[in-house]
Amino acid sequence: MSDMSSLYHEVIIDHGKNPRNFGKIEDALELKGLNPLCGDQLTLYVKIDNDRIADVKFNGQGCAISMASSSLMTQAIKGKTLAEAKVLFTAFHDLVMQEQSPEAVEAILGKLMILQGVKVYPSRIKCATLAWHALNAILEGKHGVVSTEKNGD
Ligand code: ZN
Repeated sequence: MSDMSSLYHEVIIDHGKNPRNFGKIEDALELKGLNPLCGDQLTLYVKIDNDRIADVKFNGQGCAISMASSSLMTQAIKGKTLAEAKVLFTAFHDLVMQEQSPEAVEAILGKLMILQGVKVYPSRIKCATLAWHALNAILEGKHGVVSTEKNGD
């Protein structure tokens, strides 16, 4: 467990300091995600081509957990079909909300399993799920802004 926990901290620090896919995409779908409890604000850019996520980037500012989770998410969903991205969203959500056992979603989430470390910090769960809620809103055809304090979870 302590190995898992130190790996969690390493990944958060690494991706938090040096987020992957950080930036902006012109002519992409975009949506802003806010987590007022922590002050995290990010904008997610998703370029969809033929039912597939051709490119994805994010920018904004937030705590290390929100940055790291966004960074890992963009790596995980790039190149995936919209249906596959939705499966990832659901599995990730269920993992951190403890609605599914880690064993049940491990095969789907792979590297993203590291983020289950956030479960020991309940106040930071919204930091970890922010980018995912923004993604889900885009997949549902929404635009504008989503807030962790408005969507009821
Ligand atoms: Zn945060």
